[in-house]
Amino acid sequence: MNTIKIQAYAAQNATAGLAPFGITRREPGPEDVEIEILYCGICHSDLHSVRNEWSEFMATNYPIVPGHEIVGRVTRVGSAATKFKAGDVAAVGCMVDSDGTCPKCKAGLEQFCPNMILTFNSPDKHLGGFTYGGYSGSIVVDERFVLRVPTNLNLAGAAPLLCAGVTTYSPMYHWGVTKGKKVGVVGLGGLGHMAVKFAHALGAHVVVFTTSPGKKEDALRLGADEVVVSRNADEMRKHEGSFDFILDAVSADHDINAYINLLGVDGNLTLVGAPAKPLGVTAFSLIARRRSFSGSMIGGIPETQEMLDFCGAHNITADVEVIPIQKVNEAYERLLKSDVKYRFSIDMASLKS
Ligand code: NAP
Ligand code: ZN
Repeated sequence: MNTIKIQAYAAQNATAGLAPFGITRREPGPEDVEIEILYCGICHSDLHSVRNEWSEFMATNYPIVPGHEIVGRVTRVGSAATKFKAGDVAAVGCMVDSDGTCPKCKAGLEQFCPNMILTFNSPDKHLGGFTYGGYSGSIVVDERFVLRVPTNLNLAGAAPLLCAGVTTYSPMYHWGVTKGKKVGVVGLGGLGHMAVKFAHALGAHVVVFTTSPGKKEDALRLGADEVVVSRNADEMRKHEGSFDFILDAVSADHDINAYINLLGVDGNLTLVGAPAKPLGVTAFSLIARRRSFSGSMIGGIPETQEMLDFCGAHNITADVEVIPIQKVNEAYERLLKSDVKYRFSIDMASLKS
């Protein structure tokens, strides 16, 4: 197979951090689109994976090139590719392939296809080894997994929509977030701040739960109606039994019962955060009000496009701090301190400097 060599940033093991690394991409096949990457968001999942924190569920294969919030410009398309042409703006999220034939794929739920291939750290059927993500100069992807970006959106701020956006949009639609519902968002990070924007745009009454008192003003500006500092037990108690839906986007170990107890009868708490340690749910927090506790993983391709179009119509992007790739390790340290407002977006032009 014909290949091209490009620059990327990779981690060689769980403790070394990220450093320049040359990788190989395939030449575009008939159905492929080649994209020069302009911006790539930094998701906390990148950090969990680089440090092999999910070793029990999804062990990391090194070297790893993370990044699944990709926006760029199409440079070449294969002979049978029809959706894109050179020069178009295009985007890639957490997945680059699936079998396309199973019931989940047919239903547009590619994220649940047994043969789904993630953008990084999945077996690469074309080149062998494992897939390499967006902390790189370019990517070659089957056009079925390439998304369109509405032209009014700022590209650095649009990149995080590809994971943080769809991961919060999808469960809100699934659980019927709409006008008149009381919705909680736990953790004002990359995912959490997108959840606030979506819940607000959908007309819900939005309450943000944060451990960072300094984020209060921002939460209100982003669309929250109320902000609760979750370490304050009195403030928490006031909301007991009152929520229709809560989205938990916390990246670290925390007390999940404190939030389940805020749900009303038939209320649902959906977990999108993926801390490595198990969360202890007490029986009584669920059975008391026929509550449910569930999870959600990214979103399918049709839903990702729908979310991007929704963002175009409502002028929604992530609030980003644009950084050069050389600052990526520093950005990871800040992510761990909840010190990002509210997503890092890597300017990939910096890869050439
Ligand atoms: P992030 O930007 O680092 O945000 C996480 C937020 O969690 C922080 O800003 C902080 O919010 C809160 N937090 C952090 N440590 C905490 C602690 N010890 N106790 C309580 N709250 C704490 O991360 P992200 O990129 O949004 O990702 C969040 C999680 O979702 C990660 O675990 C990630 O892997 C996962 N994820 C899941 C999916 C999926 O498909 N389900 C997709 C993408 C990411 P406050 O400062 O407001 O407290
Ligand atoms: Zn992600």
